Amino acid sequence: MDVALNIITNTLTACEELWELNEVNKEIYRCPDCLTILVPASFLRTNKKRPYFFYLENKPHSTECSYNHINEIERKAQKQSIKTDGGFPLPFPSKLILNDVVDIETDALPRNSQSSVQSIVKKTFPEKTSLNHHRTVTTIRNIVRQFINFPHDRDLPLLIPFTESQNNTYSDVFKRIKNGINYNGYHIFYDRLYFSKPILNDNMMEIRLCAGIWEKKRQVKSCTLLIDLSSITPRQRELILKEIEVTRDEAIETNNLENNERLLGYIFFLGKQDENNKQVFHTNNHRFISCITVPQSYFL
Ligand SMILES: [Zn+2]
Repeated sequence: MDVALNIITNTLTACEELWELNEVNKEIYRCPDCLTILVPASFLRTNKKRPYFFYLENKPHSTECSYNHINEIERKAQKQSIKTDGGFPLPFPSKLILNDVVDIETDALPRNSQSSVQSIVKKTFPEKTSLNHHRTVTTIRNIVRQFINFPHDRDLPLLIPFTESQNNTYSDVFKRIKNGINYNGYHIFYDRLYFSKPILNDNMMEIRLCAGIWEKKRQVKSCTLLIDLSSITPRQRELILKEIEVTRDEAIETNNLENNERLLGYIFFLGKQDENNKQVFHTNNHRFISCITVPQSYFL
C-alpha cells in the first residue's frame, strides 16, 4: 500500500514521507480503514524504488476492509463515481495542515512499547464505526493520489492552506497548467515533467514543465516551476530531486514494455502563478510538491 494512518499524529502518511524520516518507527502505522498494523518497507534513501507499506500474514485486513478490494475499486473508479448513499466508501484526505507540532523530519516519538501503542489506538479509535472517512494530511501526496485515482469523485471536500473559501472541493483546488491562462490565488497545479535536469541556483530550483509554446513538436518556450529553497533544508532539497528521478525512471521503464500501459511523469505542487509572468509558477515548501507517474489512459 502507498498510504497508512500514523496513529500518533492521526494523519495519513504517504509512502514517500518515509524517505524524510531520520528513524522510521515501525509500530505506528495502520490501515486507514480497518486499522490492522502496516509495516513500512523499502524506505532507505539509497533505494531506487518508492517505499511502501505491507500487512503481516497473521494480521490481514478485516473482512469488511475496503483495501481487500482496492484494485477492483480503483478500476471501477476510473469509469464512474464510487459514492454510495453512505458517502465515499474509503478514507480520503479532506484537509491539508501546516502543523509543525507534527515534526515529519524526525518521527522522534517516544519509543513506544507495543502496549502503549495499543493504548493509543484504543484511545484515539475506540470504535471503528465511529470513524468518518475524512482524514488529515501534512503533505499533498495523498491528496494527489486521491485526485488521480477517483476522477469522478472530485466533488469531495478539500481544505488547503491559503484559500479563503471553506467550501473547496478537489475540482476547485486542482488546476492543470495551460499556457497563457491567468490563474487566481493558490491551487494545486500540475503538469507533465519535461524531464530536463532541474536547475539549481543559490536559493532557487527551476523545474521545466511540458506546458508552454510548441512549434513543430519542439518546445520553444516552457512553463516553469520555481521552488524557493530558502526555507527548505539541503536534505529536503535532495528528496525533491530524488522524487523527480524516481518518477522519471518509472516512466522510462514503461516506454519499452510491450504489454504494459505507458506511465507518464507528472509534478503536482501547491503554489501560485507569478504576478508578472504567466509562464512562471512558485512554491516554497517541499511538503507542497509531489512527483508521480500516471497511466496514460487516466483522465487528468
Ligand atoms: Zn484494512
